[in-house]
Amino acid sequence: MDKATLTRVLDDIHRAAMLAEDRGKVADYIPELARIDPGKFAMSICLPDGSQYSVGDAQVEFSIQSVSKLFTLAIALGRYGDRFWDRVGREPSTFVFNSVQELEARQGIPPNPFVNAGAIVTTDSLLVGAQPKETLAEILQFVRLAASDESIFMDPSVAQSEKRTGHRNWSLAYFLRACSNLHHDCELTLGTYFHQCAIAMTCEQLARCGRFLAGFHPTGGLISPAHVRSINALMMTCGHYDGSGEFAYRVGIPSKSGVGGGILAVLPGKASIAVWSPGLDAHGNSLLGTVALEHLSNALGLSVFSLGSDR
Ligand code: GLN
Repeated sequence: MDKATLTRVLDDIHRAAMLAEDRGKVADYIPELARIDPGKFAMSICLPDGSQYSVGDAQVEFSIQSVSKLFTLAIALGRYGDRFWDRVGREPSTFVFNSVQELEARQGIPPNPFVNAGAIVTTDSLLVGAQPKETLAEILQFVRLAASDESIFMDPSVAQSEKRTGHRNWSLAYFLRACSNLHHDCELTLGTYFHQCAIAMTCEQLARCGRFLAGFHPTGGLISPAHVRSINALMMTCGHYDGSGEFAYRVGIPSKSGVGGGILAVLPGKASIAVWSPGLDAHGNSLLGTVALEHLSNALGLSVFSLGSDR
């Protein structure tokens, strides 16, 4: 990747983002997130040679929310291997990310680990033989190792906020329990899930976190190559919920979004990219984050479906 071109494209993306009028709508069903300034924007890219390029508010912390589902899945696959898939599917979802209808239609087997129901089951699986505190410590340790940064933390005020107002997640948990696909009390599993979603990170930290999925983490071997491949495939097909097809069409990079406005995108062997803009589109994905990744992908021919000369 040509560094001068990369720097210029990042500057172009930043300028366009600052001028954008339609910035989407900040998630307001979690009161702590409703207070975030929609004017914020950041992008950061890690390359295999250890270099990192950033623009905008790349050192401002934000709530990673559903991007955390990558890390819990990585841990769960390591612990259970293919047995994990007895409880969760590997297909894209049709409805919104917290749909009860979708779960009911599938008799309590969530379509994939990236919609809320699937992530709640994933967290439930990590609680087997452990207290919530231990599971949260395990998740935090994984994330800190991935980012090579011991300072990453969980924001308890965001977790508490969602605990009070995340009524849909309570519905999903009770429905899963009714279908025998939740093995702990709803309170226990959701308490853990809300805390994992409340991990705070800067865009620079998040980009570093993605290196293990891009195949160039400095200490290597966080998870097996087979699990990297599985997770990246699911990011491409399910990482943006019911907007995943559109995202693959426009951007073409395996990615995972969160309602905090963050997106982590990974190109195996080439780059780990994080973007943050808090305003969301109708599917709950960062509106300007998607525009920024589309711009980057087009400018540098990064879509995995691209011949590199499609401009
Ligand atoms: N904590 C959020 C929720 O469960 C995460 C959702 C998301 O980021 N899409 O609703």
